[in-house]
Amino acid sequence: MATNFANYDVRTRDPSRDVEDLLIEKPPLGVRIGDPSATSRRREHLFYAAVKQGGAVAAIAYLFFFPTGWVEWTGFALFYVLNILSMSIGYHRYFTHRAFETSRPMRYVFAAWAQFGVYGSLLRWVADHRRHHAMSDKPGDIHSPYFDGHGRALVGRKGLKHAHLAWAYDDCMTDMEVYGKGVVDDPAILWAHKTRYLWFAVSVLVLPALWGFALGGAEAVIGTVMIAGFLRVALALHAIAAVNSFGHKFGSKRFEGQGEARNNWFLGLVTLGEGWHNNHHRHPRAANAGMAWYELDLSYWVLRAMQAVGLVWNVRRVKL
Ligand SMILES: [Zn+2]
Ligand SMILES: [Zn+2]
Repeated sequence: MATNFANYDVRTRDPSRDVEDLLIEKPPLGVRIGDPSATSRRREHLFYAAVKQGGAVAAIAYLFFFPTGWVEWTGFALFYVLNILSMSIGYHRYFTHRAFETSRPMRYVFAAWAQFGVYGSLLRWVADHRRHHAMSDKPGDIHSPYFDGHGRALVGRKGLKHAHLAWAYDDCMTDMEVYGKGVVDDPAILWAHKTRYLWFAVSVLVLPALWGFALGGAEAVIGTVMIAGFLRVALALHAIAAVNSFGHKFGSKRFEGQGEARNNWFLGLVTLGEGWHNNHHRHPRAANAGMAWYELDLSYWVLRAMQAVGLVWNVRRVKL
């Protein structure tokens, strides 16, 4: 039997109380504990981790032994920006929150672009993120620094680790019957889900190789794949993961009642706007997360530019 913790307040919980272990028998609403699909998710994320983290280590080693120059680092900057935008615009502001509208062909472009960012299946991500908003920092949240997937209290580094990336390796899956409505039958999302490994290869290998070859010739290909492929995808992963971990712990709160989501200027900078996370939790359907003039939100300005040329429309803006 599932329990609805929607009114639970993290500030009232007592981390020392074992009674929260009872939640294992009464899982939070929308969470399937021990679901067999957890094994395939774990394998998938292990594969990503091996390629990204292993590749990043190889890239750092490469830097010690081989010279790199403007070809590799312009590639790094370009693909880092595209990688973060794939999350902020693709997975997040469009497919999850529908903060703007677009044409049918562009839905497929956004879907492929989202998977280019390699944050796992778009299908699962949308449902997982709906759950995150429905249960922010309460038992049932998928990646809170205050609770594990079972709903048991977490503190300190253990909580940060869970919220950062470890949640993808537990045995608690989002119930698609609760959070998957309009997602499981969306053709663009299903297509992206099925072809996601192709976009992973395009992102990490094909485009960086082409960039290196076009600008620096054959001898620049390996270095560009290392820096603009492997190193970039690993850093972009940690930047976005930090919104779920550090972004629910460190920073300021403009709005109360949004779980523990914070506005964090450093995360705002490295995630091109996603770090204005307290604003976002208060106004999840807004296309802008930065709301004050000093809250830089490049993702929103890219959407404005796309609107200006007619690629997207009804871009919802919330002003303070
Ligand atoms: Zn959040
Ligand atoms: Zn969101």
